[in-house]
Amino acid sequence: MNVLSTIDQLIHCQATQLATIVSFHVTFVYGMNKEQQRLPLWTDLMDIARTMSSAWCVIGDFNAVLYKHDRIGGDEAPKVPWAKVIWTGTVIPRHAFISWTFLLQRLPTKHRISRFSPLLDTSCSFCNVAEETDQHIIYECAYATEIRERINAWWRLPDTPDVKSLLPKLIKTRGTQVRMQIS
Ligand SMILES: [Zn+2]
Repeated sequence: MNVLSTIDQLIHCQATQLATIVSFHVTFVYGMNKEQQRLPLWTDLMDIARTMSSAWCVIGDFNAVLYKHDRIGGDEAPKVPWAKVIWTGTVIPRHAFISWTFLLQRLPTKHRISRFSPLLDTSCSFCNVAEETDQHIIYECAYATEIRERINAWWRLPDTPDVKSLLPKLIKTRGTQVRMQIS
């Protein structure tokens, strides 16, 4: 058993049966108790999935239930303040999901995926001159910056230099206000 990575809620390994030299990947999970705390687990598993091309087994205790009443003492996870901006009826679900993972700083960039696939080339898919991190792919990359600036100019939205300065603006701006700005 070769441990490839150990992070918050999982241990990702490569297992090899010595007699046959057949190997497969196995991920051992122990999920956190609260729904909000488990969000990183799902994005980590999605990152690993992107590097998997052969047999892969995910086992453990996810601490997740289908219905809240299945859990003794379970309650609803606290909502983050910017949830009202992302999860609105006017946002295309795929766009909402990408925005949500970006704001959690968990976009499946090459930098993140390389934690599970160390040999992966982490250079930016657009410009190929810097490492593909979430900050780079949204704010620093010349290609992404040009697109972002055009959208901001088109929708008359303020530009922001990084995620930290974007969050307070989002919290102040409700979905209806964004819709008014766009229209
Ligand atoms: Zn780039």
